[in-house]
Amino acid sequence: MKETIHPQEIAPQQRIKDFNEVVGLYTEEEALAEAARCLQCKNPTCSEGCPVGIDIKKFIFQITRKEYAQAYLTIRQKNNFPSICGRVCPAEYQCRRACVLTKKGEPFASKNAINIHFLERFLGDYGIKNTIDVPIRQQEHLKRCKVAVVGSGPAGLCCAGELARQGVQVTVFESLHRAGGVLCYGIPPFRLPVDILDVEIEYIKKLGVEIITDSIIGQIKTIPDLWDEGYSAIFLGLGAGVPTFLGIPGENLCNVYSANEFLTRVNLMNAYKFPHYATPVNIGKQMVVIGGGNTAMDAARVALRLQSIAGYAPSVKILYRRTEIEMPARRLEIHHAREEGIQFEFLTQPVAFKGSQGYIEKAICQRCELGVPDSSGRRRPLAIAGSEFEIPCEGAILAVGLKANQVLLRVTPELSTDTHGDITVDPDSMQTSIPGVYAGGDIVGGEGTVIEAMGMAKKAARAILEYLKK
Ligand SMILES: Cc1cc2nc3c(=O)[nH]c(=O)nc-3n(C[C@H](O)[C@H](O)[C@H](O)COP(=O)(O)OP(=O)(O)OC[C@H]3O[C@@H](n4cnc5c(N)ncnc54)[C@H](O)[C@@H]3O)c2cc1C
Repeated sequence: MKETIHPQEIAPQQRIKDFNEVVGLYTEEEALAEAARCLQCKNPTCSEGCPVGIDIKKFIFQITRKEYAQAYLTIRQKNNFPSICGRVCPAEYQCRRACVLTKKGEPFASKNAINIHFLERFLGDYGIKNTIDVPIRQQEHLKRCKVAVVGSGPAGLCCAGELARQGVQVTVFESLHRAGGVLCYGIPPFRLPVDILDVEIEYIKKLGVEIITDSIIGQIKTIPDLWDEGYSAIFLGLGAGVPTFLGIPGENLCNVYSANEFLTRVNLMNAYKFPHYATPVNIGKQMVVIGGGNTAMDAARVALRLQSIAGYAPSVKILYRRTEIEMPARRLEIHHAREEGIQFEFLTQPVAFKGSQGYIEKAICQRCELGVPDSSGRRRPLAIAGSEFEIPCEGAILAVGLKANQVLLRVTPELSTDTHGDITVDPDSMQTSIPGVYAGGDIVGGEGTVIEAMGMAKKAARAILEYLKK
């Protein structure tokens, strides 16, 4: 069988100097060659690995026939944002892992599994470039219905788009000054360029969706206010935007950031263009990042670029208390981080930060070993007594988890939540404990993925349409 085709990438030493996109787009020849590798299985398993069930076999076949517009529409039947998912989906755990070319029992996709996500991105960008519109099925009786969507991340935008395409009047309320949620403030432009997100948001607006930014629901208005304003149903896509901290000494020293704050300063507030933009971020000559997920990889790769822009020799260490195999980050991100010169200290956890005059100077760390699996199914890290050592650093970024923002939940006691503070829903309809109020994305079940958030939003949109009919 022919080898997997990889798109062009910017060389590591070049790409760490700026925030330009690292992975290129397949050329038509590359896309055709990769699509031709697909075995077109009689009983394909790849779609089972996709949280929204895209007909992968069909769109790849359409690529081989050069029916790009039809292939784009095949994806759009299930996925509203192929250009985004083609860039950020952890395909190695999802569709590619389910591809028959992945060996049975492998934890991630095998190397020669079809690059489904790159083909999806090829079509997504084709659809944008050729402004292919998705058929709209507006229904007269729905044009009188108003739905409020709170939060403009992938869940909120997806739900808004689904409803607007049926004719519903949708208003999205977003607390930040820009729409997009994590796609805008969390994932850096070298993975997801801002213009791709902007095109998708413009498309949603063209469907008639109104997006009102700088509006924190729970502060400027409540759920009863939204009923009073005539909304018939509400979708909550609040995400999981509150960082978790380690609770160790020295965490409040200057230049210890949560990854959320660090990434928001850089991605949303353009801190990397300071002083042309008013938000600074302090970058040290030696930085440590704590965590093993996508947030940690993004924070580390952003920090490395800032060091390079500041003229420092790049020096960023990721401290992770388990081993590489347990890291939840996308394998491509780990590979890119390593290529760019980021160092990994596995089986390592900080137990304190120390500094002088209020500024961090070192992380006191401990080595760990792996014990039996915990509730996450991953082997639990156990600290090794007496293994303490120091890592000098002028900055630390904590990427050790995110939880639900409670602003709206605090003023809405009728909304049932679980022990983590996430909203509980009926899994079939995504309806919350309040009739007419639905929820989806990271606010339900905690941190997940973009495509999972969209899957929940689509399910909620279907249930909202049924609810509106009644
Ligand atoms: C740094 C980072 C990198 C990631 N990388 C990947 C990746 O590569 N691939 C992947 O699949 N997933 C990735 N994820 C996870 C993914 O981004 C999330 O699962 C997804 O964004 C969840 O979507 P959401 O719409 O539920 O929430 P969010 O994207 O968090 O959006 C929620 C929105 O609601 C707004 N909001 C919250 N409360 C209110 C309120 N009271 N009133 C008004 N607005 C409100 C917030 O400001 C935010 O804009 C990453 C996450 C992070 C943090």
